[in-house]
Amino acid sequence: MIARILSIGTELTLGQTVDTNSAWLAQQLAELGIETVAHATVPDELEPIQAEIERAARDADVLMVTGGLGPTQDDLTREALARVMNVPLDFHAPTLERIREFFRSRNLQMPEADRREAMVPRGATLLDNDCGTAPGLRARIGRCDAFVLPGVPREMRSMFDRTVRPVLAGRGGFILQRVLRTFGLPEARIGELIADLMQRGRNPTIGTTAQAAVVGIRINARARTLDEAAALLDRDAAEIRRRLGDYVFGEGDATLQQAVAELLWRHGRTVATAESCTGGLLAKALTDVPGSSRYFLCGWVTYSNAAKQRELRIDAARIERHGAVCREVAESMALGARTLSGADYAIGITGIAGPEGGSPEKPVGLVYVSLASPDGCEVRELRLGEYLSRGEIRDRAAKAALNMLRLALLTSASQPKAAPEIRA
Ligand code: AMP
Ligand code: MG
Repeated sequence: MIARILSIGTELTLGQTVDTNSAWLAQQLAELGIETVAHATVPDELEPIQAEIERAARDADVLMVTGGLGPTQDDLTREALARVMNVPLDFHAPTLERIREFFRSRNLQMPEADRREAMVPRGATLLDNDCGTAPGLRARIGRCDAFVLPGVPREMRSMFDRTVRPVLAGRGGFILQRVLRTFGLPEARIGELIADLMQRGRNPTIGTTAQAAVVGIRINARARTLDEAAALLDRDAAEIRRRLGDYVFGEGDATLQQAVAELLWRHGRTVATAESCTGGLLAKALTDVPGSSRYFLCGWVTYSNAAKQRELRIDAARIERHGAVCREVAESMALGARTLSGADYAIGITGIAGPEGGSPEKPVGLVYVSLASPDGCEVRELRLGEYLSRGEIRDRAAKAALNMLRLALLTSASQPKAAPEIRA
């Protein structure tokens, strides 16, 4: 079963309103096992609307249309549908009565223009609207089952759920989706590691999407029953996890900070932060998660050298010798924060977020991330490069820090927690 989606409205083609209806409809259809092969957007004009409906009638099993069902002159969807069906528009008295009642019950006078909403292409059936005036329409055009819904997203969704979903359910089998989230491997490398699973024509289909350094691996399984689809997903998800190991940090819309929070809770560990170039971004991320008071003790934003010395007790000579952005200062930040806070883990970040302040030896994007733990202090040098913006460099640095902590927590998972007196 394949579907096409048509959204109608000049505000959409001009980009004044973002077409959210099509995305939502495509997701619903996918869950019903119906694959959407094209989205089209046309202005409030008869010919383009007609042409798109005709095209869908040739190519698709299902057509979902939204918009242009209102009472004004620019709402032309009914006319276009009637023309494609080659039938007249009939007046439907019960619909007009329902619209009158809609206004009466709100103590309003029905505008005469609303009569237009009671016009129905002959042979089409009406879809009841429970939160607005314009009914939807359903019509068979050639091989295609066409559904015409209101443009107002709330009305469209409600009508779809009540009148379209039950009709389409089960017709296309089922498509289920699972998304694995990874950090630390480039998208292209992931593509190599799971190339055989990503081959076209396979079921499940697997694709990757990278956003802000997090690569999502989407698995879509298609089957006759929900259980079969779920089994296919489980099989591929397990195989991908086996190949990518700890690079996978979660599923669905999980974030790195949620993964870290989960591990900190589970192992009863605490964390503190000492940040320079990220300006508190890491502390913000760690406290984004509800319940963060259970593991987050405190954070310093030591932007100036003086603050690093005063707040984190870093030796002035150390900063003078190498500058504030170096391995040694990063290490001192984490160690200082750990000692002063009494946390199990402390993270230090110092770097050059740009766009100014870089030099040949220390270019923009050079960041040191340090992690002090019961096992010592580890420092990583990141070279985030000159193509990222200041905001992106800060974001990547905070994420790299979260990931370092996550990996440390994973490897220390089996070890018992260090006694408090050893930590002090
Ligand atoms: P219409 O039914 O064409 O009169 O649309 C009514 C209102 O719904 C428009 O003014 C838009 O604000 C909104 N709308 C219409 N189509 C869409 C769409 N595809 N996505 C999001 N909003 C829409
Ligand atoms: Mg409109």
